[in-house]
Amino acid sequence: MKRTCLLCDGETRAILEGVRDTRFGVPGTWTIRRCERCGLEQTSPTPTAPELKALYEAHYNFSTLDAQTAKQYEARRERFLMSPLYQLMLVVDGDISFHAEKGNGRLLDIGCNEGRGLTLYRRNGFTPEGLELNSNAAAVARARGFVVHEVDLHDFRPDAPFDRAVLSNVLEHALDPRVMLQDIHRVLRPGGEVWISLPNGRSWLRRVFGRAWINWHVPFHITHFSASRLKQLLGETGFSVVAERQITPALWVAQTVIAALIPGRPETLRSTLPVAGLMLLARGVLFPLLWAGNVLGAGDCLVVKARRA
Ligand SMILES: [Zn+2]
Repeated sequence: MKRTCLLCDGETRAILEGVRDTRFGVPGTWTIRRCERCGLEQTSPTPTAPELKALYEAHYNFSTLDAQTAKQYEARRERFLMSPLYQLMLVVDGDISFHAEKGNGRLLDIGCNEGRGLTLYRRNGFTPEGLELNSNAAAVARARGFVVHEVDLHDFRPDAPFDRAVLSNVLEHALDPRVMLQDIHRVLRPGGEVWISLPNGRSWLRRVFGRAWINWHVPFHITHFSASRLKQLLGETGFSVVAERQITPALWVAQTVIAALIPGRPETLRSTLPVAGLMLLARGVLFPLLWAGNVLGAGDCLVVKARRA
């Protein structure tokens, strides 16, 4: 079992044990270890690449739903993303997937799934393409008229460089985040930007809720970055940060509260009424707390734009 840091090979020590998968109920417990040298926190034991592949296939697509249900779900979700309500949510609750960004040029959405983000990026002026390893998801995105590359980023050789690359809640899933950023550096033009969002390993939700924090997301989240460690890694891989902020999505608050109140029942994280009720409570009543957390560096999501040298 690897006990040294994934990024710097420094010694790590256990800081939180007995962490369970709150999202899907994958059996087992994991330990969070922190590097004594660079401060990066990481999930231990680290799953192997084949183990991760099997886990994603079992939990990260609609294979467990029948085709009709999956289609209805997808149509409902599409209508929501295109609705004025979603636009309002982006303003009020925060935009962790860069769905409100306007601009132009070639944009690569890494881990584009069924292409919902691609639709929004295109509407906002970009010429987006996707990268997606799940064949079913890639096929859905292609059916919407998008170019989707079904290849690992490491092996991706685009015909022309990109102006923007989006890593929306993706970097923390990488077995080697340094290699991922190096690969992005390679596919971006000089002066191009990578837009990153990921959970903040120093958030107040994590401190308050401990093991119930949904963003441990073991064993899928391999690393747990702080803002400073992320910026350091960006510097090491040839990027300079041009914008950074923090967001605490009401959905993440709601799901963490549910995981704490009803442990061992991951399906409740997806039941509409309790989630919506708690989201309204978080956004409507606790908003000063959420705002203060973001300003004080303890928000739940780090949102960073960095420019390639
Ligand atoms: Zn380290």
